[in-house]
Amino acid sequence: MKLGTWLLVAAGVLMANAAEAAPKWALAIHGGAGVIDRNALSPEQEKAYREAMARAAEAGARVLRAGGSSLDAVEAAVVELEDDPLFNAGRGAVFTAEGKNELDAAVMEGRDLKAGAVAGVTRTRNPIRLAREVMQSSPHVMLIGPGAEEFARSRGLPEVDPAYFYTSQRWRALERELARQNLPVPAKPPGARDDDRAAALAHDEGKRGTVGAVAVDIRGDVAAATSTGGTTAKRWGRVGDAPIIGAGTYADNASCAVSATGTGEYFIRLTVAREVCALVEHNGLSLQAAADEVIQRKLTKIGGDGGVIAVSPAGEVAWSFNTSGMYRASIADGRPLVVGVYKDDP
Ligand code: ASP
Repeated sequence: MKLGTWLLVAAGVLMANAAEAAPKWALAIHGGAGVIDRNALSPEQEKAYREAMARAAEAGARVLRAGGSSLDAVEAAVVELEDDPLFNAGRGAVFTAEGKNELDAAVMEGRDLKAGAVAGVTRTRNPIRLAREVMQSSPHVMLIGPGAEEFARSRGLPEVDPAYFYTSQRWRALERELARQNLPVPAKPPGARDDDRAAALAHDEGKRGTVGAVAVDIRGDVAAATSTGGTTAKRWGRVGDAPIIGAGTYADNASCAVSATGTGEYFIRLTVAREVCALVEHNGLSLQAAADEVIQRKLTKIGGDGGVIAVSPAGEVAWSFNTSGMYRASIADGRPLVVGVYKDDP
């Protein structure tokens, strides 16, 4: 081979390797899975959701690009989605049968398996921040209800009037669900104000939705965060999978970080997030194969619906869902932002 040809071949091999090199950081987010069909979303709604996902992914990516931690990145992405009334977390959360917003959230770090979670909070503006405080500033992993909020106050986290979480779209979904179940409609939260723009754009993906983020930083540490209002018309202090470590949220540097969305009862029974990580760690499955095994086979088999996002310490990103759609996005060092809504999106 002539020297020039040889050099060209060598350069080609080098470039191919560089293209395949593991990204130094990666992040994936979800904004809930459910009945999300092309004919169910107007072009304006679809655009609003895609833009919101892009904004949240960028909020997390900004942290990682600057060398920040995966924990800071997942928190930044989830706060963005909690503050956005389009999603069932923070402002825009679904209502209980009593007409309240009871919020659940969890966060976990893969480096040392530290975790924090809260359930049934009604006044903390950003439940994901409270979950992080539980992890970092309390000797506990999970706090619930008024006690969790007392702790939030002691940590100086911003509190809001419960009416802050109200959106007319979620109230209408509550009315529909209560009518279906033959239950009385409660009074609206005092001070609730209708927001026509959000109401016009928010899509009811079938009683629920949830937001979550997973990330790996340049040190190879993974983290997961999940935040939700739970399921529409939930009763009796119902808690879903999102704040339950191992069910809706899990992170371990030995395998991966996972955040889930779907009908929480099934995800709790299968310990979905931990199961994905266990298949990677103990059975040697690839991240995508593990996510598919748990969602497409195990979850589907017991009649559950929903999906997961996952990231590995090596920077692989995977998602899997058995619903018609899942709001999702991923971005990684040297890779473009990908936003998906429907099943057949990339
Ligand atoms: N997993 C959440 C819950 O069951 C709801 C959802 O993701 O849609 O509370």
